[in-house]
Amino acid sequence: MINLVLFGPPGAGKGTQAVSLVEKYNLYHLSTGDVFRYNISQKTELGMLAKSYMDKGDLVPDEVTIKMLKSEVEKQPEAAGFIFDGFPRTVAQAEALDAFLADKEMKIEHVLSLEVPDEELVKRLLNRGKTSGRADDANQDVVWNRIKEYNSKTAPLKNFYEEQSKLRGINGVGSLNDIFGRLISAIG
Ligand code: ADP
Repeated sequence: MINLVLFGPPGAGKGTQAVSLVEKYNLYHLSTGDVFRYNISQKTELGMLAKSYMDKGDLVPDEVTIKMLKSEVEKQPEAAGFIFDGFPRTVAQAEALDAFLADKEMKIEHVLSLEVPDEELVKRLLNRGKTSGRADDANQDVVWNRIKEYNSKTAPLKNFYEEQSKLRGINGVGSLNDIFGRLISAIG
């Protein structure tokens, strides 16, 4: 079993690369953003709550997100491993994930951190907003708030995983294939 965290700011290409990684390593792709968006489309209670944060570009509260993540993992007892995409995004989430996985005699092997400069991120997100139908991609203020949330709450996780010797920095600028190649060599 191999469990990976795809880490990086909004627009870094986590979702895109996850699709290729899933194919190569036969892992279960768990994107917290996708699960929230599915709940929004189904108008569930969780969806309505998440939407109130996502529309502003704020993080959904830890307690809600952690509970949702655990229940999604438990729905996949047959999985050969997971790609966590967009989770964890805070130190509290990372600590909860470690404890939860340890209980199941599982652990994170690698944290693949896609690195892309802020200006490039904004360009990519606003561009995606033209076609993705995601309101949080279309508005410049919301996009900048997401990057701000990343820098203040999520980027500190790099230290957390650096201390565990799991952080693998990957240049996230270039062709999709080149970036995929860098990810594969980091997994080793
Ligand atoms: P992106 O990485 O492009 O911002 P995501 O789909 O991963 O897109 O996330 C969209 C939104 O969903 C975030 O801005 C946030 O509001 C919410 N979200 C996703 N994952 C988490 C998480 N782990 N903790 C808190 N909020 C989250």
